[in-house]
Order: sequence, then structure tokens, then C-alpha cells
Amino acid sequence: MEKILVSACLLGAEVRYDGNHNLIDHPVIARWKQEGRLVALCPEVLGGLPTPRPPAEVQSRFPLLVTSRDGEDFTPEFLSGAEQASDIARKHGCCCALLKARSPSCGNRSSYDGSFTGRLISSPGVTAHELIREGTPVFNEEEIDDLINFVESQERQLEAEHRALDYA
Ligand code: SF4
Repeated sequence: MEKILVSACLLGAEVRYDGNHNLIDHPVIARWKQEGRLVALCPEVLGGLPTPRPPAEVQSRFPLLVTSRDGEDFTPEFLSGAEQASDIARKHGCCCALLKARSPSCGNRSSYDGSFTGRLISSPGVTAHELIREGTPVFNEEEIDDLINFVESQERQLEAEHRALDYA
């Protein structure tokens, strides 16, 4: 069975910067969780940041600079979280990831522009960027149908490969 890396806050863990969660209510995600297929993590906590913590945004991509609203440099923690998340995805053989949209770590399509004014830019968060760079497909909680289609197609492909081996 394929495993899926998931932002821990989407499964109800209270790891958001403000100590809350972003629990999603979806029957397939609930089933996958019960089947032990979800590998949950929070890259910012993995990287060593506390909960709650000041909100942070990416200020610059090249070179990477992530700061809190007060200007505290969180770049090392964000980088460490992204590297650890990527290692964990590899170790568990995750076929893809379901990450929280628009987060400076987890956003797969967009993230805030660094001005702390709520403006978005078409640039992934630090962990999502690392996973995408390594070839892991990343979906967000607004793309669950696409995620399910992707996982099911992966499983059909695996089954076909196993059948072909049986007949070899
Ligand atoms: Fe959720 Fe990702 Fe933010 Fe952690 S870093 S709280 S997993 S969105």
C-alpha cells in the first residue's frame, strides 16, 4: 500500500504557529489514516521551532531567507525541517504528499510574499519546494480528489507490475 506524507496540522495536531490545527474531514483521508498509510509531520516543529511561535514568511528564495514578523531569522529551522521531511518521505517510500496550502513551509502552489500583509505569490513553501525538487508530487487540502486519483493510479500500476511478475 502506498504511503502518503501529510502535514500534521491537517490531521488535527495542534502544531500551527498559533497552537491550532487545520483538521480536514474527508472519508478517504480518515480511511488511509486508519490503514496506517499516512506519515504525519510538521516541518517547522521538526526543524526545532516551538509551538506556538511567531508567524514567519519567506523573504527571499535565492538565497533563502525566512523571518518572523519581528525579523528573527528562522532560515536554519525551515531548512532543517525541509531536509528532515524529505528524508522521512524517502525512508517511508511515500509516493506523494498532502501538505497545507499557502504555508511558508508546506504550501505547494503559493505562499505569502514576505510582507505579512496576506499577499500570495506563486512560489511553494520551503518543504514543499524540497519535495517537488526531489520528484515527489505534492497536493494540498483543496486538491484531495486529484490526490486520490493519483494514489489509485499508482496502486493500479503496482498491481499490474505484480501480475506481470507472477506470469513471468
Ligand atoms: Fe502545518 Fe506545515 Fe505549518 Fe506545520 S509547517 S503547522 S505541518 S502547515
